[in-house]
Amino acid sequence: MFTKILIANRGEIACRVIATARRMGIATVAVFSEADARARHVQLADEAWPVGPAPARESYLRIERIIEAARRSGAQAIHPGYGFLSENAEFAAACAEAGIAFIGPPVEAIRAMGSKAASKALMEAAGVPLVPGYHGEDQDPGLLAAEAARIGFPVLVKASAGGGGKGMRVVERAEDFAEALAGAAREAASSFGDARVLIEKYLQRPRHIEIQVFADSHGNTVSLFERDCSVQRRHQKVLEEAPAPGMDPARRAAMGRAACDAARAVGYVGAGTVEFISEDGDFYFMEMNTRLQVEHPVTEMVTGLDLVEWQLRVAAGEPLPLREEELRLSGHAIEARIYAEDPARDFLPSTGTLHHLRQPRETPDVRVDTGVRAGDAITPYYDPMIAKLICRGADRPAALHRLRAALAEYEVMGVRTNLGLLRAVAAHPDFAAGRFDTGFIARHPEVMTEAAPSAEERGTVLAAAAMALLRAEGVPADPWSLRDAWRLNGDPWQELHLSLDGEEVVLRAHALPEGTWRLDLPGGWSPVAGAEPDGEALRLRLDGVERRVTVLRLEGAIGVAHAGRTHTVLVTDPLAPPGGTEAGSERVVAPIPARVVRVLVSEGDAVAKGAPLLVLEAMKTELTLRAPADGRVESLRAAVGEMVEEGAQLVTFAAE
Ligand code: ADP
Repeated sequence: MFTKILIANRGEIACRVIATARRMGIATVAVFSEADARARHVQLADEAWPVGPAPARESYLRIERIIEAARRSGAQAIHPGYGFLSENAEFAAACAEAGIAFIGPPVEAIRAMGSKAASKALMEAAGVPLVPGYHGEDQDPGLLAAEAARIGFPVLVKASAGGGGKGMRVVERAEDFAEALAGAAREAASSFGDARVLIEKYLQRPRHIEIQVFADSHGNTVSLFERDCSVQRRHQKVLEEAPAPGMDPARRAAMGRAACDAARAVGYVGAGTVEFISEDGDFYFMEMNTRLQVEHPVTEMVTGLDLVEWQLRVAAGEPLPLREEELRLSGHAIEARIYAEDPARDFLPSTGTLHHLRQPRETPDVRVDTGVRAGDAITPYYDPMIAKLICRGADRPAALHRLRAALAEYEVMGVRTNLGLLRAVAAHPDFAAGRFDTGFIARHPEVMTEAAPSAEERGTVLAAAAMALLRAEGVPADPWSLRDAWRLNGDPWQELHLSLDGEEVVLRAHALPEGTWRLDLPGGWSPVAGAEPDGEALRLRLDGVERRVTVLRLEGAIGVAHAGRTHTVLVTDPLAPPGGTEAGSERVVAPIPARVVRVLVSEGDAVAKGAPLLVLEAMKTELTLRAPADGRVESLRAAVGEMVEEGAQLVTFAAE
């Protein structure tokens, strides 16, 4: 076994690999970019080597720097995690050349499965079923359009070298095909340096079911059962579980066999996942991921195995620890991916500082894999994942029950998250009944918007914010320090100007003895309020009833977390002009930090409402900014290649 390994990754996966290595008595070497100098994975590792500036292509993707760090630190093997270099055949080859073990499959297996198109051809030859489609070399747009027509709309255009949903477009009608093809090819070229695409029949209500496989260098290949990853947004997994609801043993065995055949066809060694799309009981090969998957913990939870330990053993030349007939599937596990993103704004990544992060308590049945702590930043450079929450139960209802409870414990302040969406899906009767497919979220738009808080909830949140402002301790000397103002004018009451969810509230607080106040809350509720600190939180007393709330002083605002939801209460300056300066539809602003990839209009152009103005790229996803109304482009402040800040005004627009 190795005595020291390097982990060529960051975030939760680097932390995850370090945990197993430590348990096995293997020293760990982390690598980090300038943006990650104080990251959790750096702190957890025994040593950590800098590999360059924040952008991944200048650090985590620099093969020679990673190899150099491994060589100089004396690491005998490199674990690539997932993403970054994990499926990069050149990297695996460079490791071999440097005499360092690559904790992953052989170079040829990565190459063979690296192209979705080529792997499909290979699987077709091996007799594994495929979705009807075109995966040829010829990329002539006319030919591709003809193939799409032959397959029949709707079709899906996918980057051959694709992953992470990048370079993927659903095309409903022939007349939209050319534009979608161009967009997919452009995104594919920028993400993977390879513009080639393939075309598939777009299945209407499929499930995504994948098989975890493992092979060793002694000729053994086993299947570690399936995971159902059908709950997706924009074709990206959100919730994953094992076993798949409704799976029967015969189909499981058939899919397991097909997956092992796929692995054997490419001489596979190590952990891999064969992804299938399944509809009406049939299943079709989609692709094989030649690495550990984000959702591997659900398999670990239902098999009791540590897949990273298996990877290390296999890479060190040991045989698989168990034979197929020794593997047991027990209970049920569900994973929820918690992202810093805004479901209401098309899942745009939400960057910023995690001012507050409270995660559920871990137990043998509740696992939290995370790479961040409170105070860390979610940057535009990397995947905006905050954590993975994995819950297990004796059966699916028990696992789901734990998942709901654990999701309710989460508190995140500083960035927007998908927690509301996750909670809504976990609470949805169709999800509970196992009635879902990959279109579940799109078909249930109600899960994207959290129900408005009740009047009582709003009152509690406002009271918590008010008490944070009024309490003697912890009120810094800033312009809205109310205690001083109250002392100055000697008034028995104080007015607080707050805003919650866009609604302005002027709240009157009357001083009572012993640090308590009577608060005139909206809706005629005037409780007597008191509060005491309780660790990170506040024990808020309203008319004698105690509630635990987390209250955080932010810049010009107060974050309040209560009953599993977080709210931002703005402290509005009474002297500021009402309404702010946002002129709404006349300005087109960058919704997130991004790079301008295309400018489609010039100053003076007349455009129709909805016409594309600019194309931005953030996190390798393209985002089109459109005209908010019919009108004329007055000024344009965006050039191709330029990085723009969140909120930057890119186009001024004179509506007609
Ligand atoms: P990526 O590697 O970019 O994540 P995949 O090929 O794994 O792309 O597909 C991602 C998701 O897209 C699938 O889980 C599924 O929801 C959807 N998808 C892929 N192919 C099809 C198809 N032919 N019909 C319908 N949905 C599909």
